[in-house]
Amino acid sequence: MNASRIRNFCIIAHIDHGKSTLADRLLQATGAVDPRLMLEQHLDSMDLERERGITIKAQAVRLGHTAADGQTCQLNLIDTPGHVDFSYEVSRSLTACEGALLVVDAAQGIQAQTLANVYLAMEHDLKIIPVINKIDLELAEPERVSTEVQQAFGFSPDEMLYVSAKSGIGIDGLLEAIVDRIPSPTGAADGPLKALIFDSMYDPYKGVVAYVRVFEGSAPARGKVRVVSSGAESELLEAGFFGPTPTVVQQLEAGEVGYLATGLKSVGEAPVGDTLTMASDPAPEALKGYEPLKPMVFAGLYPADGEDYLGLREALEKLQLNDAALSYVPETSMALGNGFRCGFLGLLHMDIVQERLEREYGVDLLATSPSVAYRVSLYDGGEIEIDSPALLPDPQRIAELSEPWLELSIITPSAYIGATMELVQSRRGEFKKMEYLQHDGANGTGDGPAHTRVLFEYDVPLSEVLLDFHDQLKARSQGYASMDYSVSGYRPGNLVKLDILVAGEPVDALSVILHRENSYRRGKALVEQLKELIPRQLFEVPIQAAIGGRIISRETIRALRKDVLAKLYGGDVTRKQKLLKKQAKGKKRMKRVGSVEIPQEAFLSVLKVER
Ligand code: GDP
Ligand code: MG
Repeated sequence: MNASRIRNFCIIAHIDHGKSTLADRLLQATGAVDPRLMLEQHLDSMDLERERGITIKAQAVRLGHTAADGQTCQLNLIDTPGHVDFSYEVSRSLTACEGALLVVDAAQGIQAQTLANVYLAMEHDLKIIPVINKIDLELAEPERVSTEVQQAFGFSPDEMLYVSAKSGIGIDGLLEAIVDRIPSPTGAADGPLKALIFDSMYDPYKGVVAYVRVFEGSAPARGKVRVVSSGAESELLEAGFFGPTPTVVQQLEAGEVGYLATGLKSVGEAPVGDTLTMASDPAPEALKGYEPLKPMVFAGLYPADGEDYLGLREALEKLQLNDAALSYVPETSMALGNGFRCGFLGLLHMDIVQERLEREYGVDLLATSPSVAYRVSLYDGGEIEIDSPALLPDPQRIAELSEPWLELSIITPSAYIGATMELVQSRRGEFKKMEYLQHDGANGTGDGPAHTRVLFEYDVPLSEVLLDFHDQLKARSQGYASMDYSVSGYRPGNLVKLDILVAGEPVDALSVILHRENSYRRGKALVEQLKELIPRQLFEVPIQAAIGGRIISRETIRALRKDVLAKLYGGDVTRKQKLLKKQAKGKKRMKRVGSVEIPQEAFLSVLKVER
């Protein structure tokens, strides 16, 4: 296709503002999908994505559209993931495009991820088309939200589009705007191939299928392909595009978006952000801006049933073929036996990996509380990075302990300013700035300060927002506040390791690193919680919290009385065994630590303790 007839764009939005639904409408309006086969959120193909209503993997689809001049255009729509855990993928998707549809919910207005995404799109010099969505809603305030968007990003009133992705209002006008406003790709049609990998998946027959944007040259369907950064080579098996049904082509030309089946054996070999070229006529350098993915959150994953270690390893191996962001190394816990220390992009990523392992690979998992990676400077001069509290060296040897910090932005209605500040400050947040987004009272619309919203910027330690921060923020703002963050670097802190002892034995999987100021309160809360969660045993069980060997808190689980025991332990043996088996399979998984049975919930209690 002549590059002047190509438009490459993505849709950016805060989560739930209607990106996937809008993609559906575009698919429908261009006749890409048979109406009888149309499913909601068509591009969210993974089961898990459908259930959770989120987009995990960016997907690209090519649409044929007849423009106003009667000629056909090739529209390449790239659906980006909307969650901060996947912001690197968002960034790569943007690199593949010349334009972006900025979707803003007409009832909700600008949210934290709207801002973050717009700044990203501006950094990539994309032409942004502002789209106010959900104008069919009764609570929609398209004019107010439109003014807000114009003021925040400098759009003029006649640039604004108003649609309902649900009912289809305004979709034709949107298609017209895409063709008229988004620049067509430029880039030499001949010369060595430079194709940006913006996503990839693993196919057991075709190897790594790389989703690419061809910047220069053209990609044939056959020949030896090379990954520029690593030099890895492989014979191409196929070229094609998703329409959204996979369609094979002879070649992908400059400006086009499509896929190359590379035959490579794992997505780690052709990482997102890297460049593909042909070995016969290689491009000398990669397209700019490739960074390897760096996991930010770590947790131990253990088979609930110790026998299942090999099963878990095999499942992780398979999953990693498809998820280059997932890392794992074997780990042994005194309490939990053999398992793996896994690295994730963030908490949602961790959740998804856990669920996929259980659902797609049938392994029962026990996960320890997530941790960040700490940097430890030692008195003897060395510096190490640890991703598990259990690996922290003897405190006597530690000169300085540093942790990752974030730049956090929050948008909230002004009514929740106090509650928001209180929350962030309780998490060691350092205030940077507060700014009013729009004064409705002042511009004469007369609906008053109820609509006034503020943007906060804070620095905050990653460990403090890891667990329940987002839920807390939502709860304290009746669901109205939104947040976004990016990692800014490491800072030293007054951090200590809190150990938990059950019946006198330290349970390594329950150790956490935290700020000294919070350690007494958290230690106390943790032992209290564990007391509730660990069932009574035949003997008395002390539960203690300790810092550097010094006990700071203690609770005791009293022993069971004899008559209760008689009832519990009598009865039909086979029935009891059946019950036990069922219990092991179900939610109440138990792990024997020393002489005490500890349920799975106890290991997660570290997450849930009131801070
Ligand atoms: P995404 O997270 O940005 O991909 O958002 P989705 O497309 O998954 O939409 C989130 C929710 O908003 C879904 O329940 C959609 O049905 C709903 N939605 C999307 N667009 C519209 C619209 O134009 N009008 C109404 N009433 N609901 C919409
Ligand atoms: Mg979506």
